[in-house]
Amino acid sequence: MFNQLFKLQEDVFKAMANSSRLEIIHLLRDQELTVTQIYEMLDLPQSSVSQHLLVLKMQDIVKAHRNGKEIIYKISHPEFLKMADMIRELLIKNDDRLNFADDLKIKIQDLVPLKHDLVCGMRVSSKTAGFVHEHEGELHYFCASGCLEKFKKEPKKYISASKIKKDKNEK
Ligand SMILES: [Zn+2]
Repeated sequence: MFNQLFKLQEDVFKAMANSSRLEIIHLLRDQELTVTQIYEMLDLPQSSVSQHLLVLKMQDIVKAHRNGKEIIYKISHPEFLKMADMIRELLIKNDDRLNFADDLKIKIQDLVPLKHDLVCGMRVSSKTAGFVHEHEGELHYFCASGCLEKFKKEPKKYISASKIKKDKNEK
C-alpha cells in the first residue's frame, strides 16, 4: 500500500519536473487562464503548451473547464503551488549557483508592492513574478518567459507604452 503511495508521488513529481510546466503552475497562482493566454505568456507553440497541460491534467495538478470556445485552466489544489514555491524559495535563499545579488534576493521574496508586467499587463509582485529583468538601472517584472523575451526584443516600445498609460491615468 505504501509502495503505491510512493509510486503516485513519483508520478506527480515527474509531471512537475519540467521548467515549462513549473512556469505554467507559477502562472496559474492567482488566476485561471486560457490555453491562448498561457502560450502567449510562455512564448511556446500552442501544441507544446497543450501537451504540457495534458501532462499536468493527467496528474490532477490542473483542472480544465470550457467556456464557449475557450478551455480554461486552473490549479486543482493550492498544495502543488506551495510545493513549487517552497523549493523556489529555498533555492533563492541557499543556492550559490544563482548569481542574484543579495538585495535582489530579499526583494524577490516580497509580495508587495504590486507591479504590472509591461508586456501582458498582469499584476505581479516581485515574489509572484516569474522573471525579473534589469533594464537601464530599473527592475522590471514579468509573468513568464514569453513576456520577458518580448520585452528584451523591444524594451523601448513597452516602456514608452506604459508611460503613455500612466500619463493618461494621472490626468
Ligand atoms: Zn506577462
